Amino acid sequence: MNSWYTKSAPILSTKESKSILHNFFVYGNEGLTINPYNGCQHRCGYCYATYEWSPEFYDHIYAKINASELLMEQIQSWKKNEINPVMIASATDAYQVAELKYSITKKCVEVLQSFEIPYFIFTKSVVIERDLELHKRYSDNCFIVWSITTNKENLKRIIEPGTPTSKSVFRIIEKFSTAGINCVINIDPVLPLITDSRKDISSIIDAANDIGVKYISGAILRIRYDIWERIKYILQILNIENSIKNYEKIFKFKDPINSKKNLIAGREYSEMIMKYLRHEVDKRKIKFGFPLLNVKKIPFTKSKKDMITLLDFIK
Ligand code: SF4
Repeated sequence: MNSWYTKSAPILSTKESKSILHNFFVYGNEGLTINPYNGCQHRCGYCYATYEWSPEFYDHIYAKINASELLMEQIQSWKKNEINPVMIASATDAYQVAELKYSITKKCVEVLQSFEIPYFIFTKSVVIERDLELHKRYSDNCFIVWSITTNKENLKRIIEPGTPTSKSVFRIIEKFSTAGINCVINIDPVLPLITDSRKDISSIIDAANDIGVKYISGAILRIRYDIWERIKYILQILNIENSIKNYEKIFKFKDPINSKKNLIAGREYSEMIMKYLRHEVDKRKIKFGFPLLNVKKIPFTKSKKDMITLLDFIK
């Protein structure tokens, strides 16, 4: 396999979407999600959001230009009597660099805040710093999750070449923590043989502890045929001895993977990594997992007139 992305900068385009607020159901967890963009310029090799239907995922980013208007319409016509916290985003990074140009995530957050709907954001970006004040004024009803896989910059350029440096991300997390916004560091995915040494994991936990982060979570890589092809490419660059055989052992499969299902790591490996992670987190008196958010009860308190005013404001 050649590299999974072109070496040039991604192309940015806009598109109109038909809906923006979707249900998700992953491993027993269900909720609502917004994806303001299609594609992601962070270009992580292990990304779960890449499927055949999105062949240009890393190289052509589509901004859903009508997202905030759609979101408002969907919320106004919501049929159930409650609304779950909204995940931003499940299949893209809502604060990738394109957000500086389009501000779609910001507008969607303003809509959620206007209806008092709780949300949580997953990002690897520093672009979110632009919206610190926006999230700060809503800190009782949101939290931010930063996914960090490694503090080794050389390795980061290989496995997630479009992400900012780990040092710069920690600087932003510290600003958010100091501002009273709940921050989570998510060590996810832990990549077997690549980012799974005790030293690597502890270095992330130590850095989190140093800046007062109160929540840490983590999970081990899951592989599927397309992810596995990219992981093999990474293993080849890193020249790790017997890596394919060891992956076959950990994930209990035979190369190549033909199934489109996700394979999870075997019990022995999973327990070893997760026990260590939890032990190190507990030792520093940090909570393992995510903060809780309330479910929003309906009817909403905003009048229709207020909503129109807000729409005008965010355009
Ligand atoms: S930041 Fe998330 S969505 Fe973007 S490429 Fe990386 S894993 Fe995929």
